[in-house]
Amino acid sequence: MTAVNLAGAEVAARLRAATADAAGELAGHGAAPRLAVVVATDDEASAWYVRSIAKAAGKVGVDCQVIDCGPTASAEAIGQTLSRLAADHRTHGVMLQTPLPAGVVLRDLATFIPPEKDVDGVNPASLGRLASGLPAFAPATAEAVLAVLDHYQVELAGREVVVVGRSTIVGKPVAHLLLDRDATVTICHSRTVDLAAVTGRAEVLVVAAGRAGLITAKHVSPGATVIDVGTNSTVDGGLTGDVEQESVRDRAGALTPVPGGVGPVTTALLLWHTVRAALAIADG
Ligand code: NAP
Repeated sequence: MTAVNLAGAEVAARLRAATADAAGELAGHGAAPRLAVVVATDDEASAWYVRSIAKAAGKVGVDCQVIDCGPTASAEAIGQTLSRLAADHRTHGVMLQTPLPAGVVLRDLATFIPPEKDVDGVNPASLGRLASGLPAFAPATAEAVLAVLDHYQVELAGREVVVVGRSTIVGKPVAHLLLDRDATVTICHSRTVDLAAVTGRAEVLVVAAGRAGLITAKHVSPGATVIDVGTNSTVDGGLTGDVEQESVRDRAGALTPVPGGVGPVTTALLLWHTVRAALAIADG
């Protein structure tokens, strides 16, 4: 068996089209959606990601403003920038890019981003709202997992789903989103005993551990759908996931590639969230 390739391009293209339509309408009413990306690092990978968001935003009519606080910015300075953006009625979405300067903690600063502008779901209040079933933006990556599963019509209700990873930005929110869809969800982490025994039960396996090649064929039940969220740099400057694609491809029923799977959908969702935030503000 060779797994069906769950490419993200088509999913992202649909989202971009919907975003461009809504952004055009908002602009027509003088309320063009604006995303502010706050940066406080000179990390090259981060700069590349921010450039790719700005480029994607330009293509769908979202105004993307990058505010660079500099790599030595204090928590106070970044907090003031976020507070200003929170109060600015022309800014609809706010994103705080990582890494942050040494000693500056994302969780503390994220509270400056109000949930209604928290388009990447980093404020602990957004995760709390998500867990409580209240309206909130999920982190774009977590929602991208669901967008891929939905696009390829993967059934979730009543199915055994295993998530590897319990971070607040991917593992936990994705587990909540899956629970909301009536999946039976198990979360694994670095202290899970016998990972393969647990992941081997999954009909749908979502992997977000940040460990290249962690998941091999022995971790996957035949025919399972496998979503690889991992993005790990390779020595030659490329990107690889958490799933050993070569061995898993012959055992899984369907598998996302890396790159080209969850990643492009994440960026598209960030912009879609910005438009949704602008629409919510326009509706009062
Ligand atoms: P993270 O904060 O480092 O969390 C990793 C999680 O994986 C932790 O819960 C950790 O367990 C668990 N883990 C690590 N090693 C494990 C092992 N051997 N067995 C089982 N669980 C293990 O990472 P993250 O921010 O969630 O990101 C996860 C991956 O997704 C990374 O590769 C990241 O680059 C990628 N990512 C991709 C996108 C995208 O757009 N495609 C966006 C965001 C993140 P403990 O809690 O016990 O430490």
